[in-house]
Formats: sequence, structure tokens, C-alpha cells
Amino acid sequence: MIFKESYIMKKVIIIASLITFFINNGFSQMNPLTKEEERVILHKGTEAPFTGKYVHNKEKGTYLCRQCGAPLYRSADKFDSGCGWPSFDQEIPGAVTRHRDPDGTRTEIVCNNCEGHLGHVFTGEKFTKKDTRHCVNSISLVFVPEKRESAIFAGGCFWGVEFMLQKLFGVISVTSGYTGGNSRKPSYEEVCEGNSGHIEAVEVIFDASLVSYEKLTKYFFEIHDPTQQDRQGPDIGYQYRSALFFKNPQQKETALKVISELKSKGYKVVTELREAVQFWPAEDYHQDYYLRKGGIPYCHSYKKRF
Ligand SMILES: [Zn+2]
Repeated sequence: MIFKESYIMKKVIIIASLITFFINNGFSQMNPLTKEEERVILHKGTEAPFTGKYVHNKEKGTYLCRQCGAPLYRSADKFDSGCGWPSFDQEIPGAVTRHRDPDGTRTEIVCNNCEGHLGHVFTGEKFTKKDTRHCVNSISLVFVPEKRESAIFAGGCFWGVEFMLQKLFGVISVTSGYTGGNSRKPSYEEVCEGNSGHIEAVEVIFDASLVSYEKLTKYFFEIHDPTQQDRQGPDIGYQYRSALFFKNPQQKETALKVISELKSKGYKVVTELREAVQFWPAEDYHQDYYLRKGGIPYCHSYKKRF
């Protein structure tokens, strides 16, 4: 009898945990799996070595979870270990959870979002400087090739705009610089005078397969105050104005849509919308300013507006 009750209790706990899992993880949005994918991803199986489609893939891009679509690994962290499975020496921060195997010999890695089985992680093999090998089943992954695009935004002191945009997932690089004026290769001193026609701006290179231009633009409007005319916080002058330089008609259309959405929420947006012209990278000492010096921006922070 006691055995029977504890068996029923166990069943109740398992069902309750499953319901919680489905609610928390939006199971309905999970991708349907084939029998072989279920064997590996749900039942912790392993595909045969050298049979997975990503073992030798050298394309630039991102590897997502096959089951839930969460980004797990970047191609820049993939290396050839010769083991027969895709190998990475680090995951995208926070993307992977480690579980010690019950026998204590190996460490299993699962998707942090859906708990789908990925493979195992090993250290101490000295393959790369990071001395870590995520040995991942190809079948647990979906590869998305990089789709490199660029955008130019101006939202006050470029140190802060650069710092905030670097944090957004999908952003590959951000360069501080000047744009909008007529002079070639303007200097910081020239732009500081405020009558060069140049504005402090950043050029963003992003992977459009991971972050859309619309998402990037909305984020831009959330890290600076687009209602301030020719200033941003304590920085006053034409060179600190809020401006968005579109590179093609699609970017222009998206920017107009985002601005009109902000206006409908009551924001008196003064952001100038202009066609992109030559972007001049600023002096080296302005690049990655906060990353090098430490500290956080004095006039840029995230404020939810959408
Ligand atoms: Zn997942």
C-alpha cells in the first residue's frame, strides 16, 4: 500500500513539474521533433560521430537550439577537434546549463531555455586557449548564416551610445565617429566647436538574422532621450542632436514607423531623419571608451518606451 501511494505521489509530482515546465517555457512554441531528434534531444542520445551536418561547417553565423530556437553558440567559437561532433570552446553567455552525469564522469550540457540535450562539455584537453570543448550533437542545433548589415545612429555623446548598443544581442561591432557635415576626416576638436555640420554618431554592424533593424531602432530610442533638441543631458550643441541616418528605403520606412509609434505614445520626438552620408570613425581614444576606462555612461541608460 505504501509503495502504491508513493508511486501515485511520484506520478503527481512528475505531471505537476511537466505542467510548470510547459507554462514557463511556452511548450506550444517548441519546434516539432523527428523521432531521431527526440532520441537525442529528449532522451539524451548521441548521434554517430562524423554523421552530423555541422561537423565540418565553417560558415559564419549562429547555432540555435533545434527545439526552442534559443541562440547557443557562435561560429567564431567553433573549432575542429577531430572528434566527429561540432566543437565549441564557449557558449553564448547564459545559453547552456551543465549537469554532472549520475556516474560523475562526464558533464552534460543542455539548452538553458528548454533543457534540450546538447551533448557534453570537457576541459583539460588543451585544444584551444579556453581549454574547453563543448561536444554538441549537430541534430540538437540549427545553423543560421550571418546576415551582416549596418546602421548609423546619433543620440548624444557617442561614448554612451556605443556602450549601450554593444550590449544588444546580434550587434557585431559599434564604431564611434562623425557624420553629416561636409569636411573630410573631421577631428574631435572641429566637431566640438558645434558648427562643422558633423554630429557625434555610431556605426553599428549587426547580424540581421539575430536582430532586426526595427528592434535595433527601437532600442536606440530607448537608450537616449529623443525629445531633447540639440542636446543630450549635460551635453549641449548641434553635434549632440538626435538623428537617424538611413541607408536604404527599407530602413527609412522602418524608422518612420518607429517614430510614429513613439509619437502616438505622446513623445515629442525631435530626432532628425536623414539619408546616410560618409561616416568618419573618431580618433582611437574615443573607441570602446567605457570598456577601456571602466564606469558607466553619464547620460545614457535604458528606458522602456515600447
Ligand atoms: Zn532550447
